Amino acid sequence: MKTIRLKVGKERSLLRHHPWIFESAIERGGADSGETVRVESADGQFLAWAAFSPHSKIRARVWSFDEKQRIDASFFIAVCASSTAARARFDLKSDGVRLVHGESDGLPGLIVDRYDQTLVAQFLSSGAERWKAVLTDALLQATGLERLYERSDTSSRAQEGLLPVSGWLHGTGPTDLLVCEHAWKLGLDISTGHKTGFYLDQRDSRKKFADYAQRLQFQRVLNCFCYTGGFTVAALCGGAQHVTSVDSSGAALAQAAANVALNGFDAARATFVDADVNATLRQLLAQGRSFDAIVLDPPKFAATQAQAERAARAYKDINRLALKLLEPGGVLFTYSCSGGIDADLFHKIVAGAAADAGVDGYIVERLGAAPDHPMTLTFPEGEYLKGLVVMRK
Ligand code: SAH
Repeated sequence: MKTIRLKVGKERSLLRHHPWIFESAIERGGADSGETVRVESADGQFLAWAAFSPHSKIRARVWSFDEKQRIDASFFIAVCASSTAARARFDLKSDGVRLVHGESDGLPGLIVDRYDQTLVAQFLSSGAERWKAVLTDALLQATGLERLYERSDTSSRAQEGLLPVSGWLHGTGPTDLLVCEHAWKLGLDISTGHKTGFYLDQRDSRKKFADYAQRLQFQRVLNCFCYTGGFTVAALCGGAQHVTSVDSSGAALAQAAANVALNGFDAARATFVDADVNATLRQLLAQGRSFDAIVLDPPKFAATQAQAERAARAYKDINRLALKLLEPGGVLFTYSCSGGIDADLFHKIVAGAAADAGVDGYIVERLGAAPDHPMTLTFPEGEYLKGLVVMRK
């Protein structure tokens, strides 16, 4: 068994069970890509078993802090089973469920989503890659399913020295699937969609939006960065009269329009705009348009804190424009999924946007990712999705 020895003082985060070991913390030692290493403090104390990643700044990711734990197939079978079982205790109201959320579930670099009878996995770290066959078997065993599709085609794989890859790892079947969440159905494609095909993390926000639509009787809704129309369909289900949905992906918009039809809504109640959101918001303002509910769910503007400043300006800009387009009494559901922007900063950005727009609003709710995208006490980086519901005064 290979060992890596940390520099003096670098054991602290591991003693708190934080699962990452940065390149700069290592005094000596190394291993092959994904190989399990014993991690020791500067004075030789056992700290963890971890997967080594020779190309990444995060040079090793912890599998276990228990010295007696063997990192083998039975270990992965047990962790996959417990992660899957935890979902049964969450109240998810959907057949689309995130079964494994990486570090938060003890499996760094592994994402697994279940869409009814099909699993879709992303193997994003050297360790997950190395154990791919074992993890695939463990996941199929934990769920009793027979189909697992791989979507390891993210740019983050490059940081681990891994090439993008996707396709069936086990079984085969259609890639255009349906997810039934709350009161609606949404079609998706696991081979061409974003991430694993769908944004399961916004499930409860979509439900909340539907509830607001019903309670406040939304007339005109604007759904920005609509992707496949999750918030659009939710608003219509809540009784909203008309939803304008904006996205710069033609394929996402086509799926969004199909999803409106799938749920039995008249096409006249939905307008789809294939354009940049920032430009569209400016245009709508110039046309004197207004809305009584707006969703802003942009892609990640800042992956790291280093990019936070530029991202903050971009968030502020769209929030300012959206707040101007909002009727008094209207609600803005606004989000940031940037890891580099924490909840506090996001709040400040939206407050700054409101000041620039010359409006004030009540923060009526703070939102986060659905519970199957958990944060743990030891891994605060797990908090990535932050949302605010702002009601314009
Ligand atoms: N709210 C969605 C998820 C949004 S994902 C849901 O509930 O499923 C972010 C979306 O923003 C993607 O569909 C992407 O195509 C779109 N996008 C990214 N940059 C954009 C831009 N500048 N203008 C318009 N859409 C953009």
